[in-house]
Amino acid sequence: MRLNRWILGWLVMVCGVCMTLSQSWAASPPTKHEWASSVQPVKSSVLKQTLSEKTLRAGRLTGYFQQAAKEFGVPVQVLKAVGYAESRWMDHGGKPSQLNGYGIMHLADNPTNHSLKEAARLLRVPVKTLKTDVQQNIRGAAAVMAQEARRQHAGRLPSKLGDWYTVVAAYSGAGSDLTAKWYADEVFRIIQHGAYRSVRGEDVWLSPTPVTPNLSRYAEVKGVLPFATPDYPGASWVPANSGNYTTANREADGNTINYVIIHTTEGSYAGTISWFQNPSANVSAHYVIRSSDGAITQMVQNQDIAWHAGNWDYNVHSIGIEHEGYVNDPSWYTDTMYRASANLTRWICDMYGIPKDREHIIGHSEVPGATHTDPGPGWDWNYYMSLVTQAPTIIVDNATAGRFSTSANWQVSSWNTQKYGSDYHVASPSPVSDVAWYRLNIAAAGNYDIYAWWPANSGYNSATPFVIKTTTGNKTVYTDQRVNGGKWVLLGTYSLGAGDNWIIGVSRWTSGSGYVIADAVKVVKR
Ligand SMILES: [Zn+2]
Repeated sequence: MRLNRWILGWLVMVCGVCMTLSQSWAASPPTKHEWASSVQPVKSSVLKQTLSEKTLRAGRLTGYFQQAAKEFGVPVQVLKAVGYAESRWMDHGGKPSQLNGYGIMHLADNPTNHSLKEAARLLRVPVKTLKTDVQQNIRGAAAVMAQEARRQHAGRLPSKLGDWYTVVAAYSGAGSDLTAKWYADEVFRIIQHGAYRSVRGEDVWLSPTPVTPNLSRYAEVKGVLPFATPDYPGASWVPANSGNYTTANREADGNTINYVIIHTTEGSYAGTISWFQNPSANVSAHYVIRSSDGAITQMVQNQDIAWHAGNWDYNVHSIGIEHEGYVNDPSWYTDTMYRASANLTRWICDMYGIPKDREHIIGHSEVPGATHTDPGPGWDWNYYMSLVTQAPTIIVDNATAGRFSTSANWQVSSWNTQKYGSDYHVASPSPVSDVAWYRLNIAAAGNYDIYAWWPANSGYNSATPFVIKTTTGNKTVYTDQRVNGGKWVLLGTYSLGAGDNWIIGVSRWTSGSGYVIADAVKVVKR
């Protein structure tokens, strides 16, 4: 009985969406004035309060960070930011990074980083446990950092947050001062900006914390090494160890450059750069790109042969680009990184006359005989290639003048840091016709990839309907706005007619619970 009623309710709701949409299809979207007269607006103060961090639900992981901070006297901001920089707070189930580091805190065992063994010694916990037990992994990192802090400060723990900068730099286990500095810079950038993500259904966050890092001797470290210049304008130059690549004179030596090969670092940006500088690595790539801001470091000159493809013929005829992140966690593949990488790939293709297609721009996993899976299914090839080829693209944000329309029931918010632009619109779910519409000027009829961008939060809707007016009628795509925030999410490929019309909408009519979000949409010509 109960089930029947539920199914009935759901069917009514689904049909209600269809009706709502077909009505909206015929009419132009309602103006703000029309809606304001008929609907009582939600008080924005109420909404602001419900969207504050008070609604976040701390869980197991937050508890582990707090306990370790208390037990070892390491600021919880430092522990959380190091964890975010290393793993985005995702445990990799005992699997090592490329640098042989483990767990959320990347306790490592490699020629320059011995934090795993050190943590085992300090905690008297087996190495195996530190690799797989999330709580012990965080405790282990805290113990190693506390020991280093005491070593640096005559047996005492620093009282100022900024004084932990040099401790973090040491914790990186980086082989050079430059990469140690980059690592600590990134950790303190995260502390300054804050971070949030939903980790297996649990909210984990770090509130933005003002801090002035005490750089100490790292203030003297030069950002770019002087003895060579990168091929790519805007890249930093940090050479790989000369034992990790083959000196050549491409293409003058007759070896043409025919491919760009896309990789995932399976480790942090600074850690990867440090690893390619290490003579025992026996691997390298021409370029490494950072997730958070798309910063590019060149490590092998284009004319030389980097060791990245696992296939000598492909090494000889390619340029390799490493992207900071992990194959099993696509949240590392940020929009900023896609853009920076696509600009680099386009530049390489133009330089060497490489066709900008998927025959020549390939993933490591697509190299014949490859044993690696990077960049994996989380890499958005359609989007990446549209950036490389500069396919005609239209973006409409909720702040784009004259191209976004809602009723007064939709409120503006700017709280969530995963937003596109400066803000986004929020509404409670309700079985009413109250769609937030985007107006797009489609120059030519044809097939388009349609993307949406939303900030994600566990309090948002698990089935937010996006309505798309195609040449074959309205299509509705349900999206889970609790996840996949802060990036373009492909809704699908649809046939759109030419003209300047209100063709993409976000509906409040959903069977899911939690706020529905309207932020930005994008269409890219196929
Ligand atoms: Zn690879």
